Amino acid sequence: KSDTTLLEVNNIEVIYNHVILVLKGVSLNVPKGGITALLGGNGAGKTTTLKAISNLLKSERGEVTKGSITYRGERVQDGSPADLVRKGVIQVMEGRHCFEHLTVEENLLTGAYTRKDGRAAIQADLEMVYSYFPRLKERRRSQAGYTSGGEQQMVAMGRALMSRPETILLDEPSMGLAPQLVEQIFEIVKSVNENEGVTFLLAEQNTNVALRYAHYGYILESGRIVMDGPAAELRENPDVKEFYLGMS
Ligand code: ATP
Repeated sequence: KSDTTLLEVNNIEVIYNHVILVLKGVSLNVPKGGITALLGGNGAGKTTTLKAISNLLKSERGEVTKGSITYRGERVQDGSPADLVRKGVIQVMEGRHCFEHLTVEENLLTGAYTRKDGRAAIQADLEMVYSYFPRLKERRRSQAGYTSGGEQQMVAMGRALMSRPETILLDEPSMGLAPQLVEQIFEIVKSVNENEGVTFLLAEQNTNVALRYAHYGYILESGRIVMDGPAAELRENPDVKEFYLGMS
């Protein structure tokens, strides 16, 4: 870990359809090499925050009307989603979004489309992905649409890894998964973080599991950050225990 800030969100406001104010001044820092968790209940604004970062709000008639977002000190909020990908930031959307008619392996290979380093490197990375997700190797010839929810989450994460990102924005990885599988997904996040040095910002409703794997957490309520701190401190905080840890 280091103290270099990769991503800095500074007091952003987001409005949908010109009138619906959803983020009311959100600030956060994502340090290089860390796992940062953005926590909060349904509708708190977690997905909106991630989409603001990756420039994905336009298609939803949303816009950042105040504040700034920088990556490695460069302003990124007026660009396109592709600009972020070029900088090494990739978002894994909520609800997985696989190409259902492609096989698992073809899905993974779509993650490498921006790369120019040739077949051998891409093949090596496919093996790297399979080493984290042995289940995907077994299922590599299956049509992605017929795999389970957990497997599709793995495909989505594996595809992101195939682009050799510096930072992954991971939206609600636990959604709809059985507790044991949730644990498995977070274990993989942890080992990818440790072994590949990938930085994570993850949005999660499951405070309990997220605070066990993240290094630092931010808690979002109705579009505002109400608390933040090292994960170990948040886990011991009485308010967090009462309002968040009991629930998950
Ligand atoms: P969830 O876990 O349900 O995704 P969240 O914390 O990610 O919750 P957001 O999806 O960011 O929350 O939604 C925050 C608020 O913004 C909600 O009140 C939601 O209804 C509203 N919202 C989201 N998308 C739009 C949109 N395209 N147009 C208008 N309002 C929206």
